Amino acid sequence: MIVIFKYAKRIEKIPPYLFAQLDKKREQVAARGVDVINLSIGDPDLPTPKKIIETLKREAENPINHKYPSYEGMLEFREAVSDWYKKRFNVTVDPQTETLSLIGSKEGIAHIYLAFVQPGDISLVPSPGYPVYNVGTILSDGTPYVMPLLKKNGFLPDLDAIPQEALNKAKIMFINYPNNPTAAIASIEFMRKAVQLAKKHNIALCHDCAYSELSYDGYVAPSILEVEGAKEVAIEFHSLSKTYCMTGWRCGYAVGNREIIAGLSRIKTNVDSGIFQAIQHAGITALRDVTDEQDEIKEVFGERRDVLTAGMKSLGFDATPPKATFYLWIPVPHGYSSMDFCTRVIDEAGVMITPGVGFGAEGEGYFRMAYTVSKDRLTEAVDRISKLKF
Ligand SMILES: *Cc1c(COP(=O)(O)O)cnc(C)c1O
Repeated sequence: MIVIFKYAKRIEKIPPYLFAQLDKKREQVAARGVDVINLSIGDPDLPTPKKIIETLKREAENPINHKYPSYEGMLEFREAVSDWYKKRFNVTVDPQTETLSLIGSKEGIAHIYLAFVQPGDISLVPSPGYPVYNVGTILSDGTPYVMPLLKKNGFLPDLDAIPQEALNKAKIMFINYPNNPTAAIASIEFMRKAVQLAKKHNIALCHDCAYSELSYDGYVAPSILEVEGAKEVAIEFHSLSKTYCMTGWRCGYAVGNREIIAGLSRIKTNVDSGIFQAIQHAGITALRDVTDEQDEIKEVFGERRDVLTAGMKSLGFDATPPKATFYLWIPVPHGYSSMDFCTRVIDEAGVMITPGVGFGAEGEGYFRMAYTVSKDRLTEAVDRISKLKF
């Protein structure tokens, strides 16, 4: 007997995985013996700083850490977060009620919609954007309303252009600066405006701050909680993944408005059981003791940024060095769709880059390059692309 399973309707609403076509192409190219240079994923190639690994090793030996952790995270971890916020942003968050550990920030971003969005509700999502904002909305049966990120607006959403009706139904708004995929940054004035709007319309304002520590040329990214009164409506998602090269460890957190934190916490209490405590201890080491190593990580990415930007510019691409993140966001050559362009580059140059359309329809016309490989590999990637004529 063949049993046929039918997926729930919400699964059908999840947008198709646009990168499948490219993945297939990459496999074909690799099968031809080509050494593919992968600039398509936002996953640092550098190892996690040694101190952090040492803490994990030590704490993994301790049976106390083998048990279920507390749902909201060890108080010690939350205190380390709170102290880090004070030191880094001069922002006070209460470790007890305004801080929540997450199994990577993606987990919290995906789950927060379940706490605040129901059928008929809208969530305001940037496009191009990190796909989880859109998918999280769909999985909670809400309706995403797209805020386009356009070059003419510095890749910031035009808050004045959001229709009243959408604002009235909106429960959550996500913004993300320094931004993935555009590498744009936002001023504290922009954040102030977003806070005002969220207050006026009772919207839980969520700021995804995953790249705040990967900045260059002395640029220091703000926290939305630096805006006076932001804690009345906002929370911020943070992650150790990009800052300390810890993507595989799954360690992040949210801080800010206590009601919003409590809502997210209620969902999490029912679906997961927190971060392995040895990893929380390692996270404490990262937040408290890893400064020089973090500077070195930034320096490496900064050098790569310069190599890749200069290389792409020399080929005639409109590339500018971003102030933060590890991405370049570049217009595709005239006459190409982003998918066609990226397909050609993987096929003929063996370089994997990401089509902008994969981050939402508004990303069409662009491609993203992640400088998460060595300078030599970046130079080789540019060299290979230079042999293609557009
Ligand atoms: C990488 C990334 C995250 C998620 O990081 P975690 O590893 O889940 O903590 C969140 N937001 C953006 C924009 C990212 O690029």
